[in-house]
Amino acid sequence: MRIHSYSRGSGRLLAALIVVFWAFAGPQGYAAVPAETALTSTAEASGFVKTGRYEEVQRLCTAFAQRWPEAVRCTSFGQTPEGRSMLALIVSRSGALDPEQAQARKLPVLLVQGGIHAGEIDGKDAGFWLLRELLEGSLAPGALKQQVLVFVPVFNVDGHERFGRWNRPNQVGPEEMGWRTTAQNLNLNRDYMKADAPEMRAMLRLMNAWDPLVTVDLHVTDGAKFEHDVSIQIEPLYSGDAAQRRSGQMFQKGVLDSLTRAGSLPLGFYPSFVVDDDPASGFEDGVAPPRFSTTYPSLSNRFGVLVETHSWKDYATRVRVTRNAVLAMVELLAQHGGRWLREAGEADVRASRLGGGAVPLDFKASEQARMIEFRGYAYTREPSAISGTLMTRYDDARPQVWHLPLRDDIQPSLTVVAPRSGYLVPAADAAWLGPRLDDHAIRYQRLGAGLSDLELQVFRAESAQPAATSFEGHQMLSLSGGSWNAERRSLGPGALFVPIDQPRARLVMGLLEPQAPDSYLAWGFFNNAFEPKEYMEAYVAEDVARAQLAADPALAQVFAQRLEDPAFARDAQARLAFFARRHPSWDERLNLYPVLRVDTPAAKAAVMAAAASP
Ligand SMILES: [Zn+2]
Repeated sequence: MRIHSYSRGSGRLLAALIVVFWAFAGPQGYAAVPAETALTSTAEASGFVKTGRYEEVQRLCTAFAQRWPEAVRCTSFGQTPEGRSMLALIVSRSGALDPEQAQARKLPVLLVQGGIHAGEIDGKDAGFWLLRELLEGSLAPGALKQQVLVFVPVFNVDGHERFGRWNRPNQVGPEEMGWRTTAQNLNLNRDYMKADAPEMRAMLRLMNAWDPLVTVDLHVTDGAKFEHDVSIQIEPLYSGDAAQRRSGQMFQKGVLDSLTRAGSLPLGFYPSFVVDDDPASGFEDGVAPPRFSTTYPSLSNRFGVLVETHSWKDYATRVRVTRNAVLAMVELLAQHGGRWLREAGEADVRASRLGGGAVPLDFKASEQARMIEFRGYAYTREPSAISGTLMTRYDDARPQVWHLPLRDDIQPSLTVVAPRSGYLVPAADAAWLGPRLDDHAIRYQRLGAGLSDLELQVFRAESAQPAATSFEGHQMLSLSGGSWNAERRSLGPGALFVPIDQPRARLVMGLLEPQAPDSYLAWGFFNNAFEPKEYMEAYVAEDVARAQLAADPALAQVFAQRLEDPAFARDAQARLAFFARRHPSWDERLNLYPVLRVDTPAAKAAVMAAAASP
């Protein structure tokens, strides 16, 4: 029966399978084997020497759904730029195989994704292996009744098909693998906030539909050589909702303990050295900015988990450890998922009330360090004639315990007081920014009428520094100085009002607060607002300066004080600008962030009235 259901419509394949298994197993053995083959990956069949092409994901997705129609649905959630179908397997024994049923029945959803970096493909092969065991009931019996798994075997599908032998020079197997970035050369694990890639927008739609309580992103590290085989990071742990941080600690500990019991040497932080290539420099933990999968969900009061197997373990070991990590999460979710889901709902309510409160938006480890024992290898650091600097050589036949400093006292490095009411995106930016807010399922209203002479908050930067090189196709911008201050402003109709009282308030701030590490401003979407567009000729500015000095004797003193700064004294342009910016011709919008904030009750009432206008 299994043979029949798998090979329906493919008589030649059936004949080939029978021949193959007849040859291997003889007449007694062939009947049961082809069905297993139908659910087995190239990785398993090859003893984890190889991984399959994307065609295999399509085949397995369909085969799993045919084998367990009551528990598996194979679905496409988008198309890549090269026209490939993005596939997800929806897996549950609860009977809930669509988002409405999952939500109605208050079932936690676990989104597990492989291949965001398609060369780090452990997650794809581990996922199919684990799903088969869960569905057969040989592992975690009953767990699939209490949750819904959404398994995306390969997120970066086009990258997966850029297949080659040398795509991961710091990794042991598989023999050939996909490429890190998409066909458009975008790194999806930098794209959660700006969401440039069609693949990311498809993923955000999938996440918005399913509202996963936990999103697990499966990677393989680069970096040094050591005995530890996997790291598990979770947010909220240091950032986000306080009650969720406590559950995040419990969640992380649960996964680490489970991996230890299974024979792993897991870490709770990402093992990259403070000083690149220098083990003695120790480690610094932190909170990744929300462009990464680990932190992005936490801005919506959900868990993000980063699993990084160690690239110098062989492929069989890494896939097994990845499987064990996801299994631990399935088991923990079966045990605690109901409570964590209620807690997430409560965190949504608390987030909706963040207006007027201080909200941390970026984090950094303090100088405080503690010594840890780390299972490394003996190594030497010697001068190299090749690089002209020190080189590290590991002896992975000689395990060695390293006593190293770990800085894991994580503190907010940027805290911003949220607006009491919300943000205003002017009409000029509404057409591009509105759809981007839609990608994140952020609620907003379009103002049918304008706002006239209203007290709003504006952010003026003292100066703005564009990055010297492009990053992910963007010229990022960082601001010096500046803060939100009350000003009376007018705004034409067509502006967007983004209220702060919504469950995704942290995400709203992460995108719209100008200083946040992954705001639209930081990614360069507003660079134009920080470029001078009109100017005063030097000879005109000379006259303006003399007229101003004549009219205001106190100004001469201020100018003299500025001249005590040698850099200013040397800079002719800056000296002329000192006077030009005091002239009515100075562009008051230069260095003015176009997005405004609504903070007072009067401003909110005026905005609400404008929103009610057709
Ligand atoms: Zn990666």
